[in-house]
Amino acid sequence: MKPHPLYFERGAGSRLWDVDGNEYLDFVLGWGPLILGHSHPALTEAVGTQLPLGQTFGSGHAAEYEVAEQICAAYPGAERVLWSNTGTEAVQVAPRLARAATGRTAVVKFEGHYHGWSDQLLLGYRPDTDGALTGLGSRGQHPRSPDDILLLRWGDLDRLREALSGDTDIAAVFTEPALCNSGVIAPPDGLLAELRELCDRAGTMLIFDEVITGFRVAYGGGAARYGVRPDLAVFAKALAGGFPLAAVAGRGELIDQVTAGVVHAGTYNGNPIVLAAAGATLRELARPGVYENFEALGGRLAAGIADAFFRHGRDGVVNQIGPVVQGAPGLTRLDDFAAFLSVDWPDYDRIVVELLRRGIFCLPGGRWYLSTAHTTADIDRAVDAFDEALTATIG
Ligand code: PLP
Repeated sequence: MKPHPLYFERGAGSRLWDVDGNEYLDFVLGWGPLILGHSHPALTEAVGTQLPLGQTFGSGHAAEYEVAEQICAAYPGAERVLWSNTGTEAVQVAPRLARAATGRTAVVKFEGHYHGWSDQLLLGYRPDTDGALTGLGSRGQHPRSPDDILLLRWGDLDRLREALSGDTDIAAVFTEPALCNSGVIAPPDGLLAELRELCDRAGTMLIFDEVITGFRVAYGGGAARYGVRPDLAVFAKALAGGFPLAAVAGRGELIDQVTAGVVHAGTYNGNPIVLAAAGATLRELARPGVYENFEALGGRLAAGIADAFFRHGRDGVVNQIGPVVQGAPGLTRLDDFAAFLSVDWPDYDRIVVELLRRGIFCLPGGRWYLSTAHTTADIDRAVDAFDEALTATIG
C-alpha cells in the first residue's frame, strides 16, 4: 500500500479511523468482504449471540443447514454446500470434484483471472518479469504446476472448442463470471452461455469462481446476473460480511463425492461463529432494494469518476458492475485483460495517495468496492476528492 501501510484502530459503517485518529471513507472494505460496511449491528449481534455458546464443535450444528439453505435458495443450480475458510482453500476442492467425476486431469484457466494463491492455480494472472503470461505466479511455486493447466485468453472460443473436442482430458473450465480481478469486465455477450454449451457437449465441469461476484453483483451472483448455471461455484469474501468463511456450492451428485472418497477437510470448516456471521449477512442482503441501491450508488460513483476524467481533458474509462467500480486512466475502452495491463498502474498510485490525503481509502489498481453502509453523500465526497486528486497529479 502506498505511500506506506496504514494502521487502523476501528471501523464503523463506511468509515475507518487510523491509529493517529484520522478518519477515512473506506472503498477498500477489507479487499471486498465488508459488504455491509464495518461492524453492522445485525452482524455483531449474531456473532455476539453465538460467541458464549461455543466456537467450534467439530461436528454438525443447525446453522450449517440454515446458511446452506440460504445459499441454495439464492444461487442458480446450488443443491449442496461445502464449507471452507478462505477462497484459496475452497477453490481447490472444485477441480478435485471435477477430476473425480470425469476421470480427467486438465483444467482450463483464463488469463488475468485470479483463483487464489495455490500452486495449482496461480498461473497467468499477471505477466512475469519477462512479459510472458504463461509462467508461474510466485517464486518457490512448484515448477510443474502449469503442466495440467491449459491457459487461454478469456473469449478465445476457438482454442477452447479445440481443447474440448474429441477425447478431451479437460475435467473443468474455471472462470470468474465477470473479470473483477483485472478490470471489472463483464463477460462478452453470450460468452458464459457458450462456455456452458461447450462444457455440456464435452462432459466437462463449468466452475464459476464467485469469490468477488457472489452475493455482490446480484444476490444470486454472476450466475443470476448473466443467466448461466455452473456445475460448481466458489464463494468467499461477501458471504460472511468480513468473517473467514468460504463455500463451494453446486450440483448434488458432484458434491456428494465427498462421502465417496473425495477428501475435503479443514479443522475450522463451518464453525458456528462464521456461520452466524454469514446467516446475518445474507439476511441483510436479501432485503428488498439492496441490489437496486448498489446499482444506483455504483452508477453514481462511475459517472462521477468518468466526469472527472472528462473535465480534466483526460482519457479515462470507468467500468461498473453493481457495487464494484473500476476506473482506468488513459484508456478509451477497458473490455479485455490486455487493455487492463496497458494502464500505468504504478502511476495511478499517485492518485491513490492524493485520495488518501483527502480521507478516501482506495485500492491500488483502480477498483472501488461499495457496501450497504455507503450513502450518496459518501459517493459525492469521494468524487470531489477524485477530481482534486486528478488536479494534484496531472493538473
Ligand atoms: N478467487 C477470486 C476470484 C478472488 O478474488 C480471490 C481473492 O481475492 C480468491 C479466489 C482467493 O480468496 P482468498 O483471498 O479468500 O483466499
